[in-house]
Amino acid sequence: MTAVFQRCANCRAAYFPFRLVCSRCANTSFIEDDVDSGLVEAVTLLANGQQTATLVCPDDVHFIARVMGGTVKAGDRINLTNSAGEETALAGYIPFQRNYA
Ligand SMILES: [Zn+2]
Repeated sequence: MTAVFQRCANCRAAYFPFRLVCSRCANTSFIEDDVDSGLVEAVTLLANGQQTATLVCPDDVHFIARVMGGTVKAGDRINLTNSAGEETALAGYIPFQRNYA
């Protein structure tokens, strides 16, 4: 399981959500990279009982993920996925769709 983020092709700065211009070097060329887990920074419990978590990953990339397959608390490390699929293991689901024309 992995989650995709964007990396500047020039200075390697990492971003999610994706950007059109790198805020560090103004480059407009990016590559995709991925990460397999994130550290839970904060948890929000929704009215329907679903948890969402703010996760921090290397390069200071932050994701907001839907927690699947269990519950988490701040300080936990969980796997990340871009696939809602049939996963039953504890994971943070990050909706992601490529919108390339
Ligand atoms: Zn850059």
